[in-house]
Amino acid sequence: MRDFSVCVFCGARDGVDPLYAKAAHDLGQGIAEAGMRLVYGAGDVGLMGHIARAAQEAGGDTFGVIPTHLMDREVGKRDLTRFVITETMHERKKVMFMNCDAVVMMPGGAGSLDEFFEVLTWRQLGLHDKPIILMNTAGYWDRLADLLQHMVTNGFADASLLGFIESAETPAGILARLSAYRPA
Ligand code: AMP
Repeated sequence: MRDFSVCVFCGARDGVDPLYAKAAHDLGQGIAEAGMRLVYGAGDVGLMGHIARAAQEAGGDTFGVIPTHLMDREVGKRDLTRFVITETMHERKKVMFMNCDAVVMMPGGAGSLDEFFEVLTWRQLGLHDKPIILMNTAGYWDRLADLLQHMVTNGFADASLLGFIESAETPAGILARLSAYRPA
């Protein structure tokens, strides 16, 4: 699959279960082997580091975007195919989003959720129709799915919101969904 870029939002930590790092590694490797480009936050820490190193080892094209002030904290990974430094967090999100065809969210924390909710609300407003897929490793995002359903049940979101999100428990499942979006 050529000319298809996947933006992956990843935790800047490993999490307690080694399964998360393994999933990040396998997804990075799978994206590269499928000939897709990895777009991500350009860090060399946590799941970000695992996915990027795996994609590089498999000969993949990597595009990282990091704001200046996080270069030290998140260990900016300068050896990517393309490495972009932005001034702000907002620019980082914009550049990542503009350069991708699909979005995947790995397990992560508040930062990953911030990125996820931005692209989800843009989709809700009809600003794009890029697929948004949760990497639900070991059911990590089950509580997020419950929260979104709770919002719909209580009348604070339209039921269509739930249709904007897909999920898969394994890297293979994510890759199968991405393949379904292969551009003509
Ligand atoms: P976390 O999921 O909290 O580990 O964070 C994952 C990534 O999201 C890290 O690279 C954070 O720097 C990044 N992040 C956090 N908040 C924002 C934001 N407002 N805009 C862009 N990236 C962010």
